[in-house]
Amino acid sequence: MNVIFSILIVLSTIIAMECLSWFIHKFLFHGPLWFMHQSHHKKSHSFLEWNDLFALLFAALSLYLMYVDRKYFGYRFFIGLGITLYGLIYFIIHDWFVHRRFKTFKSNNSYLKAVRKAHKIHHKNQGKEQGKAFGLLFVNRKLLKN
Ligand SMILES: [Zn+2]
Ligand SMILES: [Zn+2]
Repeated sequence: MNVIFSILIVLSTIIAMECLSWFIHKFLFHGPLWFMHQSHHKKSHSFLEWNDLFALLFAALSLYLMYVDRKYFGYRFFIGLGITLYGLIYFIIHDWFVHRRFKTFKSNNSYLKAVRKAHKIHHKNQGKEQGKAFGLLFVNRKLLKN
């Protein structure tokens, strides 16, 4: 498969995953799946949360997609790769940087600080209803300025 085409599939998958996770977060996590997601909105003392199960689901899906196309690197392989990369980016920014699961990642980058600010706005509300800022990577320009 054409290299440029493969890269485009990976990049569009990453963008699509951000849109999909916005949708899932807003309409499923803060909807019928709240019983699992609420662990992420309460202060917890354990390292793992019920919410982490979602990451496992996506990891399984991406591994499956890469596995079925492993011999000839078809489009499913690159969709799987895009989901994996999105998962990694999500983990590094959301879990490592914003929620400080490991206290080792600090940054003064204005984009990263804006992402953190937006996500803190989401977490200010500990309940299911009236949430704000469900996405992660696309941040409001206003937050970038200061
Ligand atoms: Zn939430
Ligand atoms: Zn969070």
